[in-house]
Order: sequence, then structure tokens, then C-alpha cells
Amino acid sequence: MSRPVILWFRRDLRLADNPALAAAIATGSPVIPVYVLDISPDIRAPGAASLWWLNRSLAELAAQLSDLGSRLILRQGQAALEMETLAAELGAQAVLWNAHYDPGVAERDADLAQALKAQGIEPRRFNGAHLLPPDLPKTKAGAPFSVFTPYWNAAQTLIAPTQVSAAPRELPVPLTWPYSERLGDWRLHPRAPDWSTGFSDWIPGEAGAQARLSAFIDQGLATYAADRDMPAAAGTSRLSPHLHYGEISPKACWRAAQASSAAQTQVQKFQAELGWREFCAALSSRGRDLAVDNFNPQFNAFPWRDDPEALEAWRGGRTGYPLVDAGMRQLWATGWMHNRVRMVAASFLVKHLLVDWRHGEAWFWDTLVDADHASNTGGWQWVAGSGADAAPYFRIFNPVAQGEKFDPDGDFVRRWVPELALLPTSHIHAPWTAPPAILSRAGVALGGNYPHPIVDHNQARQRALAAYATMRDRVV
Ligand code: FAD
Repeated sequence: MSRPVILWFRRDLRLADNPALAAAIATGSPVIPVYVLDISPDIRAPGAASLWWLNRSLAELAAQLSDLGSRLILRQGQAALEMETLAAELGAQAVLWNAHYDPGVAERDADLAQALKAQGIEPRRFNGAHLLPPDLPKTKAGAPFSVFTPYWNAAQTLIAPTQVSAAPRELPVPLTWPYSERLGDWRLHPRAPDWSTGFSDWIPGEAGAQARLSAFIDQGLATYAADRDMPAAAGTSRLSPHLHYGEISPKACWRAAQASSAAQTQVQKFQAELGWREFCAALSSRGRDLAVDNFNPQFNAFPWRDDPEALEAWRGGRTGYPLVDAGMRQLWATGWMHNRVRMVAASFLVKHLLVDWRHGEAWFWDTLVDADHASNTGGWQWVAGSGADAAPYFRIFNPVAQGEKFDPDGDFVRRWVPELALLPTSHIHAPWTAPPAILSRAGVALGGNYPHPIVDHNQARQRALAAYATMRDRVV
């Protein structure tokens, strides 16, 4: 029997449209699928909600492989070291993987590739996580783009209309299997307490991802452009955690939209959101850790406030602004927050409370099931104004006006802030404007079962603008 090849699963936990897997099978040699829980100190560890997802997703992948008569070998350690040791142990001829571009990963992979080559083992890298490799497209001057629209205009001309390949029906197996750790021993599922009970709507794994995509294409895409901003509607795909872990390829999402009967405007809007995912990855792959560094270094001089109490109120969904609180509670309960509300809640932390965006990014990192280094830092820096192609700092979301516009009937707030559920719609986004009799009839006690606003919007706005002016004065 020929020397085996190792297929290193990373953020591509799927069998369909997986270029590294297809190439492994094409060698005709036995394929040993491996996943390493990476504990390298220079690689950011996933947050708790993300580990919840990973646990389920790995179990699904292992079951799929088992159905093919194969296995998923699990190891924990410093990934590059584990792979190097395992490849040597197995006398592998090649190690194949799909690249991703979080800080430190490209360097680690390059070092591993070199170490493997030195042992006569071929390293083979593929692009399975993105529509395009992150160094494409380039401007006419050969530089990376920093503004989304020209980036996306150029990117779309490069996205090849290739077919999405189906899952293999067979996987050549080795005569003997190496030792595998047990998934349960990794204790990725939260205990004491198990706060994940509200995650039950999610179905991690490739089958769940494909079902989610089909449901969205059939029921959501036709009205996506308008509904995507309404948090009470199921108007978006909710594919983000599946895409993060690569349970479905972005190409499959792109093509399913392309092949649908929905109007081109809807299709293009959805594809442009996939484009933001690409853009964020491209920015993140430029070598700086954007969870630490402001993309725009002007913001290094920003006078952030240290306010642990305000940060805690924000995290717990007790700011007194119903839309913000509803979003923060949706996040805690389900591991996901609607994009419109992410923008409003993030803006509230950064601009109303003047708390450093890094605190918010870290909280999202720990609590989102779709926590993704590139998209999360991209989202936070966009909101903070410090990012590439960011929202201008002086544009400050008014959480009440945002609520009235995007949750006009108050259904989203009623769902997530039940203590306000009986308030009339005219006051649902600003309970402090309701006369005492109405509050009392609705069972709302401001300062009791629901807080007063922790900052006044107009004062907070003026304070934020003054802070921004201070930063500019310091920089000039
Ligand atoms: P859809 O509207 O159905 O979009 C389809 C896909 O496009 C998404 O699944 C996602 O992969 C991608 N996408 C959509 N919007 C964006 C965007 N603005 N930036 C990058 N990709 C996008 N997204 C994450 O995947 N992980 C994160 O950690 C994350 N953190 C964020 C933090 C902040 C402060 C903000 C403002 C946005 C963040 N986003 C993040 C982007 C966006 O909110 C989510 O991708 C989206 O809400 C996921 O829901 P969906 O799958 O239903 O999206």
C-alpha cells in the first residue's frame, strides 16, 4: 500500500466542495483525516460559544467520515508540531490543508511547510475558505484595496464560475489508524453552568449548513435586500457560523444565490455581503492583528474611558436603551445577533459609553457562535471609525431612532426584553418618555425591573464628538 496522505481539517469542516479533500482523494493513497485543537500561544483561542459550535461540528464530521468507513483523528497541542510529528510517525507522503488567514496562521503554516519539506513530505495548500485568495484583487498600482466598493467591483470579475463539487462517495483508508483523542475529553461543551440551552435552534455541521442555505434560498433571498435590516424578521441567512467553520463553502452560497429565481438585485445584495466577508479576510491577512491594532493609527490617540460598570451594563443588556439591550440579550441567549443590532449595540459601547472597541470585540469573540477574527475586528473597527472604509466617527447611531426605523412594531424588543412587552409601540424604544400611568399599566418600573438610560443620548453624542476632536487635535 502506498504511503498515506494526511488531510488536515481546520476551518473547512465539510466533505463537499473541499479542495484539499478532493486533492487528497485524487492521490489514490490512503487518506488520514486529522483535526488538531490548537493550543499554540501565538494563535488566538476560540471563544466559549465558538467552542460549543466546534464540539458539535467535529462530532458531525466524524459521523460523516465514519459513514464512509473512515475516521477523524483528533489531537490537541501546538498544531504545527502535532502535524509534523504525526506526518513523520505515519510516514506520510503529503499533508494537505485549506488555508485561512488569521494572525499568526500564515506564518505557522509556512514554518510547517518548510519543516515537512525537510522530511521529504509534501505540503499542499488550497483555498477553500474564501471566494478568492486574500491577496486578490489588487489595484492597478498593485496594492491591496482598502475601500469596499472598488474592491468588490474588482473581486467579482475574478470569481470563477466553477462548479461546486459534491461530497466524495468513497475515501481510501489506511490499514491501521493512528491514535486519536476523544472529543468528549476536550470538554468543549459548557458545564457548571451550561449556558448554551438557548442555542438549540442551531444545527452545526455540513447537513445543517446545507439545510440552512436551501431554506434561505427558497424562503429568504427573494426579499433579502429589504428584510435583512429588520431584526424581528428572519430576513437573513444565518449562515455565518457555518461559513466560519467552513461547513459550507462560500462558493456554494454564492452559486446557490446565482442559480436561484430571485431578482438580480436581491442576489447581488446577498453576494455583496459574502463580499464583505472576503474584504474583512483580505484586510486581516495583511499581517497586523486587527484585534489589537487600530487599522487607522490616528485612533491610537483616542481618549477612551475606563468604565467597568458601563461595560457590565452593556454586556448584560441593561443599558436602558431597549434595542441595544434586546440585541445583547439575543447574543447571550442564542450566540448570534442580528447585523443591524450589532452595529447599533457596538456603536453604543464605543460612542455613547466611549469604551474602547477592543472590549466589545473581546465580548463578541467569546459569546458569538460565528465569532470570526476577520469579520469581528472588521465589524468593530468599522463601527469605531478606526477601520478601513469605516463609518465616519461623527455619524453616531441614535438607538431610539434605529429602533423606530428597523423594529417599528417593537417585536424584536418585546421578544428579548420581556419586561417591556406590554408597553405601547409608541414608547417601546424609549420607555422613559412614557407617562407614569402607562408604565404602571405595562408593569414597567424604571430603575426597578428595567433601568433608566445609563447615558442621555444627546449628552453622550456631544461627549463623543468632543472626544473625537481631542483625538484629532492630538494627532495634528
Ligand atoms: P447574511 O446577511 O445572510 O449574510 C451572508 C453572509 O455574509 C454571512 O453569513 C457572513 O458570512 C457574511 N457577512 C454578512 N455581513 C457581513 C459583514 N458586515 N462583514 C463580514 N461578513 C459579512 N460576522 C461574522 O461572521 N463573525 C463575526 O464575528 C462578526 N462580528 C461582527 C461584529 C460587528 C460589530 C458587526 C457590526 C458585524 C459583525 N459581523 C460578523 C458581520 C455580520 O453581522 C454577520 O456576518 C451577520 O450578521 C451574520 O448573519 P447572517 O449569516 O444571517 O448574514
